Amino acid sequence: ADGLGRGLEQIQARTEELLFEPVIRLGVTGLSRAGKTVFITSLVANLLNPGRMPQLRAAADGRLMLAFLQPQPNDAVARFAYEDHIAALTGPQPHWPESTRTISQLRLSLRVRPTGFLTGLTGPRTVHLDIVDYPGEWLLDLPLLAQSYAEWSEKALTQAEAPGRIALARDWLAAARETDGTAALDEVAAQGLARGFTAYLHAARAAGFSGCAPGRFLLPGELEGSPALTFAPLPAPSRRARDGSLYAAFERRFESYKRVVVKPFFRDHFAAIERQIVLVDALGAIHAGPRAVEDLRLAMADILQAFRPGPNSWLSRILGRRIERIAFAATKADHLHHGQHDALSGIMEALVADARARATYKGAQTRSFAIAALRATVEAEVRQGGDLVPCVRGTLAETGREAALFAGRLPDDPASLMVPARQGAERWLDADFAVMGFAPPKLNLRPGEGPPHIRMDRVAEFLIGDRLL
Ligand code: GDP
Repeated sequence: ADGLGRGLEQIQARTEELLFEPVIRLGVTGLSRAGKTVFITSLVANLLNPGRMPQLRAAADGRLMLAFLQPQPNDAVARFAYEDHIAALTGPQPHWPESTRTISQLRLSLRVRPTGFLTGLTGPRTVHLDIVDYPGEWLLDLPLLAQSYAEWSEKALTQAEAPGRIALARDWLAAARETDGTAALDEVAAQGLARGFTAYLHAARAAGFSGCAPGRFLLPGELEGSPALTFAPLPAPSRRARDGSLYAAFERRFESYKRVVVKPFFRDHFAAIERQIVLVDALGAIHAGPRAVEDLRLAMADILQAFRPGPNSWLSRILGRRIERIAFAATKADHLHHGQHDALSGIMEALVADARARATYKGAQTRSFAIAALRATVEAEVRQGGDLVPCVRGTLAETGREAALFAGRLPDDPASLMVPARQGAERWLDADFAVMGFAPPKLNLRPGEGPPHIRMDRVAEFLIGDRLL
């Protein structure tokens, strides 16, 4: 009866919401450093002051009358620290804000005047935009739900032996291979293996690899040091591992990781999301080389599985409703002259092509963009010899000096980036990209204007425009 009562309450709340004050639940995700924090900060600032959002129709038509921040409705989730982040970006000494470490949420309420004949009948209405920021690493955990500890171990060990990774994994791999899983659990040895495995994942991430699950090993949030994170893959033992053995302990912890960490995230947060943007530091991966791009493509496929779960999977059973729109955005496009932006969104498109086809099939609208949430550069043509080189100019964070730089060239054909990593493959973005650590620009914003960006208005129109009509 209790469950029924709660169900009715939920239906009632949802009905009120639909009739009076609709809520759009927008998920913002991407791997660490993809640009989530800067994206949300800029989106909110540009909705509060929509002077630079001409492609957001409600703003261009003057129907977006007011936007304001509200206490967010979910007491159990940290609030996105908008005020700190916007102060970092727009203060007298502009600097990049602290990155996403865990899940957080923010409610922005928009007062909009409806279009068309309704205008005469109804006054302005309020639409709440609940923005949920969460690490993309957590989505990489979804495939774990379908794997046993033995299956996962085997995959993880094989992956660690791949070219490019093996050098980073060598010490831990040697220790794992020497470990007798059937021996009695020794907590110190267990912690040593977990630490070694975690260190390898961090090193792989730093080297530009994207597929580095389990996600909480990189971003543990409040779980740092807990037993649910104190395990690592082990080779299958030659005889049965009894209760009390290391192998049995790791097997149990792997299962509790799925139960207490992975499932609650999907059930309590992911399931409610209606609109989603996936941010991707495609430029960073392209610069890191063909292996990193291939790894990113595979990680994207894993991430996107969450958006098109198999019909009988655990996830599809708990998903309340389908995600209606998914934007894929290559971030930091201000590193490139606009002449290369189409190439960048083409690459973004190619990175998710497979998964996208299937998501479209399932009824979600998807689109790829090349964006800069906060434009740190201006374009400049620099004469070099007889040629005009299309550069971008900005302030380098390290030295505080201005520089006009050329990131390098993107391939004309995105497919050429997607070939499986091979020795001696062509390199892209090999000009000045490595030194392009631009600081956010010193801003002198006019009233009504948010911070400068590239295509944030188009992204906003795609993600929420239809709900502001
Ligand atoms: P998160 O880990 O996904 O939250 O990533 P952040 O939003 O913290 O961004 C990581 C870093 O990427 C920032 O510190 C900036 O250096 C850089 N970055 C993010 N967005 C932009 C952008 O629009 N333009 C430029 N030039 N750099 C950006």
